[in-house]
Amino acid sequence: MVIHMLQLLEDTRKLSMFTAYNTNVDAIVYLKGEMIQKLIDEFGAEAVRRRMEEYPREIREPLDFVARLVHALKTGKPMAVPLVNEELQSWFDSHFNYDVERMGGQAGIIANLLANLGFRKVIIYTPHLAKRQAEMFVRKPNLFYPVVEDGKLVLRHPWEAYREGDPVKVNRIFEFRAGTTFKLGDERIVVPFSGRFIVSARFESIRIYTEEKLKPFLPEIGLMSDGAILSGYQGIKLRYSDGKDANHYLREAKKDILLLKREKDVKVHLEFASIQNRTLRKKVIYNLFPLVDSVGMDEAEIAYVLSALGYEKLAERIFTYNRIEDTVLGGKILIDEMNLELLQVHTIYYIMYIAHADNPLSEDELRESLELATTLAAARASLGEIRSQEDFRVGLSVPYNKRGEYVKLRFEEAKRRLRTKEYKLVIIPTRLVQNPVSTVGLGDTISAGAFTSYLAMLKRKEHPRG
Ligand code: AMP
Repeated sequence: MVIHMLQLLEDTRKLSMFTAYNTNVDAIVYLKGEMIQKLIDEFGAEAVRRRMEEYPREIREPLDFVARLVHALKTGKPMAVPLVNEELQSWFDSHFNYDVERMGGQAGIIANLLANLGFRKVIIYTPHLAKRQAEMFVRKPNLFYPVVEDGKLVLRHPWEAYREGDPVKVNRIFEFRAGTTFKLGDERIVVPFSGRFIVSARFESIRIYTEEKLKPFLPEIGLMSDGAILSGYQGIKLRYSDGKDANHYLREAKKDILLLKREKDVKVHLEFASIQNRTLRKKVIYNLFPLVDSVGMDEAEIAYVLSALGYEKLAERIFTYNRIEDTVLGGKILIDEMNLELLQVHTIYYIMYIAHADNPLSEDELRESLELATTLAAARASLGEIRSQEDFRVGLSVPYNKRGEYVKLRFEEAKRRLRTKEYKLVIIPTRLVQNPVSTVGLGDTISAGAFTSYLAMLKRKEHPRG
């Protein structure tokens, strides 16, 4: 199996990939019990508890932040909540010292990952590229940012392509560890899982789009690429003060996908991140899912998507019980209604692919693609970052999680119970690192590893060796 997987990685590294749109600077805080306690004491346990019950969807004032943070710590679930009040930035900066600054945003994380793995070519497009943002990219010769010079498309390293004066999006990430303890009034809370709480900056100046002058070159970029990974749509706002709205940005996003595919049917993967606003979530799903080939998301996100599509009861069940059978059912609904070629769902204990029965890859091959994905994520969790293809090997020595066998059993049961003849369905347990150096970007790593190795295997089919 090891030889197989190393061979697959070799084939995957031969690809050229395009990735857009979201990048930001992640300012990271490693949370300690005392820090949480201090925050609670500042506002009072009762006020925090009341606000937790209100469950604010956005951060407008510091108490919203404290309430959602404590909620995330109590459940141990990774969460992201948008910060809409730009003025609060100084409150954060005066309350916390940031331990590290690094690349954030799915497109940026994936670009650095693929460049470090030594892919043939990685083209990253992000609409805002200030110097501080550009410096978050790794200095690799296979990493490019597209610019238009003298009416021509030119590929430059992001370090050579930044624009002074572009806005910078800073997300504040609070990493927490299982076992961290604090008190909320009389209640003693022990954080059950390691994870992170993200305060994501959602300001007017940060938008998700392709600049007008670059747009005509998207077909050329598509032609240069074996696949595209698009993400960041969760950053679109319903309305902007200049009159533009989500409909405008989603219309443009649709055009971008069609332009990428104009000269060649380049496969497009959309990496879905949770969108709290239901209206926007629905718009993203209905506008974009039908145009892309592949979608990746985590378990919470599939529940949100199903709820937006009207499958409230099923969504509720997934939220409450996390049963594999329900996730499989939800996946089937999604690939049928949106006619996706491939859906990938990753959870802490397992990763799943659902495709139609006529998918060119066999279930064994699909499984191999997921194996590569979880190994890559395990390597990243162990090391904090993947700096070269050699690091992949670290993932190979990470054991599968203890619930793995149980997961397989439940999955076989689900397969028997649900009608699955018209589908290819595979599931693998994850390789889980006990004490991850960081959990940021693991989902993106899984999705990038899964989609690119899927493409590599499709390519093998089209151009068999010998
Ligand atoms: P997301 O919620 O999209 O960021 O995805 C996180 C994914 O990363 C999970 O679904 C797991 O499959 C994987 N993951 C999380 N924690 C670990 C860990 N400690 N070791 C390896 N993989 C992990």
